[in-house]
Parts: sequence; C-alpha cells; structure tokens
Amino acid sequence: MTLASFASRVVEWQQREGRSGLPWQQSADPYRVWLSEIMLQQTQVATVLRYYPRFLARFPDVQSLAEAPIDEVLGLWSGLGYYSRARSLHRCAQVVCAVHGGRFPTCAAELERLPGIGRSTAAAIASFCFHEPVSILDGNVRRLLTRHLGFDADLSKARNVDALWQRAQTLVPIEEPTSMPRYTQGLMDLGAMICTPRRPRCAACPLAGDCRAYASGEPERLPMRRLALARQSRQLWLLWLERPDGATLLQRRPARGIWGGLHCLPAFDSLDALRDAAHRGWGLTGAGQTESPRVHRLTHLDLTLQPVRWCLVPPGAPQFLDGADWYLPAQWERLGLPAPIRVWLQDSARSRSVDLAMPHERRPAAAIP
Ligand code: SF4
Repeated sequence: MTLASFASRVVEWQQREGRSGLPWQQSADPYRVWLSEIMLQQTQVATVLRYYPRFLARFPDVQSLAEAPIDEVLGLWSGLGYYSRARSLHRCAQVVCAVHGGRFPTCAAELERLPGIGRSTAAAIASFCFHEPVSILDGNVRRLLTRHLGFDADLSKARNVDALWQRAQTLVPIEEPTSMPRYTQGLMDLGAMICTPRRPRCAACPLAGDCRAYASGEPERLPMRRLALARQSRQLWLLWLERPDGATLLQRRPARGIWGGLHCLPAFDSLDALRDAAHRGWGLTGAGQTESPRVHRLTHLDLTLQPVRWCLVPPGAPQFLDGADWYLPAQWERLGLPAPIRVWLQDSARSRSVDLAMPHERRPAAAIP
C-alpha cells in the first residue's frame, strides 16, 4: 500500500480528529494568534482558556496592550507563571506599534526579530495567519518528528537541532500553502494528543505506517534525553508588614531573576537580614510572628518561602528599600504578584474581613510586636 505524504496525513487527521473550536482558532488575526501562542508556552490549554478571554477583554488589540502600564499586564498574567513572557509580550506590543505601525510583520523571518518570539512561535504565526510554508518545532513537535524520522542525535547540541529543523522543513506542504494552518495545528495536536511523552497512542496515529520509532518497538526511546539538571533548593525570608488600615508593604523585584518585575513581600536571604531591616527601618522590636513556610516549586528550584510578620506598623514609606511601598488590597489585587504571595495576601485579607465582621468582644487581640 502506498502511503499518502506525511503532510496530507497530518492535514486529513487534523480535519477528522484534531482540536477545533478553541477561541484562538476562530481568527487569523496575528495579534490573537500571537497572544495564544505565548500563553500556551509551558501552560496547559485548560488554563489558557481561562486567561485568554480575560486578557483580550482588557487588551483587545496590540495598541491597547502597548499603552498599558506593565503592572496591569503582569496583574492579568498572575498565576500563568513564567513572567518573562508577560514582560516580553508588553515589549513586543510596543515594538509592533512603534516600528511596524501597529501591524505584525507577515513572514516568520521578520516576526522572529520581535521580543519574545522564537523561531517556532514565528513559524506558527506566519503559517496560521499568512499561510507561509514554514515548519514549527516546539517541544511536542520535536518529540513527534524525532520519533517518526528515527532522529536519534543529541538535541542538546545546536547543530543537531538545526538538522532537525531542516528535516522538519522538508515535510511542509509547500505546494498547498492554504493547508498550512491545518498542517501546523495537526502537528501540534498529534504531539499533544497522540505522540505523548509516555505511552504514545501509535495505534491511533496516522504516521504509524512509516514511523521508525514505532517500527523499532520502543517509541519512548526518542527523543534522546538530555541529562536532567540537578534540582536546587533555596530559602527566602519574607518581611510581611501590615498597617492598621490593611495596607501591605510590597517591593518590586529586580527585572532579572526569580519573579522578575513582580511585586512581592520584601525578600531576604537570611532571618538576620530580615530582622535587621524590620528593626532599623521601622524601629520594630521583637522577633515577629513566623508564619508556616511553603515550598514553591520552580523549574529547577525548590523555593522555601518563610514569612515573618508584624502588624500595627507605623505608616510611612521605607526609604531604604528600593521600589517598596504600601498597597491596600484594592491596589495589590491589580498588581502582578507571585502566585504564593497572592494566595497568602488573599487569605489574610479574607480572615481580616471575617475578623472585622465579628462582634468586638469576640475578636482576638492583635499581635503586638
Ligand atoms: S507512530 Fe507512535 S511514535 Fe510514531 S509518531 Fe505516531 S505516535 Fe509517535
């Protein structure tokens, strides 16, 4: 039996069984496609489905996003993680408006020059919106193609990744550019739904007929695994100061590093440094109230967060903490906050409102430092 071409099998399968009806599939507007592609990096579709409409409702076009304060963008991104994506998104919108007159470039090579748009994302936008015959090669598609092609070179080496890009490009339906959106979506869907990291569903795969990994009987052996990076651990001491009116002291994090650009409780590497700041900065006495720690897992790092809290702090912005200020709940709710910090503040605000609603005689006494 002669097999149809790789591309036609992908396209036919996508039409029959691939994902359809996702909000970003309803439009060839590069702004909407770009936004969905950035959100979908390292984030599940189910999560993006919650964030995407909210983001679009506030920023319906690239101009509104470019003009927005970065804090508002980070606020709407809160909970999606990988915040450098949100900062690049904002920068990219500004470049599109300032340099390209508010219109996205129409080819992958130009799109790739924009902030935060890598080669695969550029190809996705160009193929979905402008039918350019260029291949994507995100993590899922790498897995699909290395298995189908039996490509067993080490992908931690740039020259091998380049070679895979070249092989990927030879599979694109160059003769039928109008099928590019469905071809690209088909690759994405096969990588996510069929050629999964563990137990790929080869029996349901339209590429099984000439798949080398399937023929070998060990499809999971590919792609070649890189050595896993050793996990690291680190502890951060968080200075949690609350004013009597409910305002919390938050400090903007440096642009680079963990939670870059987000607002956070002031963080210190040691308990001594934290107490020194509390004592010198506000004349507080005592050790503060140590809250239960939480371990926050980042990609290669287990971060133990240990807040130490003082209430009844006198008002006034601390001069010695750069970028720190007081924020009432209505203000910090709109800021970009790391997810665990937001949860802590929300829990605290909730218990505070319960406390205020209780009859005076039943209220617990405030902790005095
Ligand atoms: S046949 Fe199996 S291993 Fe090969 S591409 Fe399909 S799902 Fe992946």
